[in-house]
Amino acid sequence: MSFKNYPMVSRVIFGRGSFNQLSDVLQPKRLNTKAPFVYFVDDVFKGNAWLTSRIPLSYDDEICYISADEEPKTSQVDELVEQIILKYKEKPSGIIGIGGGTILDLAKAVSIMLTNPGEAKDYQGWDLVVNPAIYHVGIPTISGTGAEVSRTTVLTGPDKKLGINSDHTPFDQVILDPELTKDVPKAQWFFTGMDCYIHCVESLTGTYLNAFSQSYGEKAFELCKEIFLEDGLSENDSQDKLMMASWHGGMSIAYSQVGVAHAMSYGLSYLLGTKHGIGNCIVFNQLEEFYPDGVALFKTMMKKHDIQLPQGICKDLTDTELNIMIDVSIGLEPLWENALGKNWKKTITRQKLYNLYKKM
Ligand code: NAD
Ligand code: ZN
Repeated sequence: MSFKNYPMVSRVIFGRGSFNQLSDVLQPKRLNTKAPFVYFVDDVFKGNAWLTSRIPLSYDDEICYISADEEPKTSQVDELVEQIILKYKEKPSGIIGIGGGTILDLAKAVSIMLTNPGEAKDYQGWDLVVNPAIYHVGIPTISGTGAEVSRTTVLTGPDKKLGINSDHTPFDQVILDPELTKDVPKAQWFFTGMDCYIHCVESLTGTYLNAFSQSYGEKAFELCKEIFLEDGLSENDSQDKLMMASWHGGMSIAYSQVGVAHAMSYGLSYLLGTKHGIGNCIVFNQLEEFYPDGVALFKTMMKKHDIQLPQGICKDLTDTELNIMIDVSIGLEPLWENALGKNWKKTITRQKLYNLYKKM
């Protein structure tokens, strides 16, 4: 098929306090009393009764607290799948991810790997998943990545950082309750929010742009400008709007691609474990050449919110290490092609990436 037949999240609830409805949403989806709902919850919420007391638990349902200190790995997905298989006689009724991009991606990946043979690393790529996933629900607690809406779950494997992109990846149900984001620390709010902003810039300036992507990207871009540059938005409005910006930013790249910042930030993440939001910011800060207007506005936003980026994270790396990052980055061909067109190899050389990384 030459046109992508794109699956979307089939059900979504939006609204402050909508998290209270989780029990009503899940009840009809319980397969039987031996098939539990397994909740993956960011461990930042451990002991947080405001959130956890509203997670409905019956029969063998279970909450697994998971740290988001490191981004998801294929080996971690395999371990979680094994634990679930060993523990329960039946496959779960559903996997529910409650957290940021890290936890949402783990929930997606585990729900896929519970019904597909082999290891998670075998499915990194495009359309390799054969069997439909277990019913899975995404409940974001921080806004920006678009992981709640996307067709991918980004995983670091033994030899690459690459998503499981498939028709079975998107959530069956998403609950967008902006109130859940109220305690996100300011710097993290900015970094993950900038992931959304950068999705928009990369999509809107890319060669893959089309009216579908543009319509979502422009809306998300407008919302980001309002949230990060204007004064006078109430906290509630700001949380509501950033949650929708994330959604639209994710939709915008569904039918297009990200670009240079993502390609280079994947390199940082692979070698140094730099997290996605901050990694994108570190890279984007050096990309005036590719995105002059987008970077200028980004710098204004950083200044307004008094955000400091780490400096010199690559300056002491060896050439071997830099080459690993360059390999990861340059291998993401669709991202470069979206950013610079079919002849991107004429502008993007290893030396060019080397020089850029050295500045970060
Ligand atoms: P994250 O999930 O790692 O969360 C960032 C930090 O915020 C963590 O320390 C977490 O504990 C904390 N946090 C989350 N919610 C909180 C809350 N309500 N209160 C207090 N603290 C809270 O970061 P992220 O930026 O949301 O996600 C990054 C991940 O998303 C990366 O692994 C990246 O690869 C992935 N990603 C996926 C997609 C996709 O389409 N699947 C797109 C972009 C990024
Ligand atoms: Zn991103």
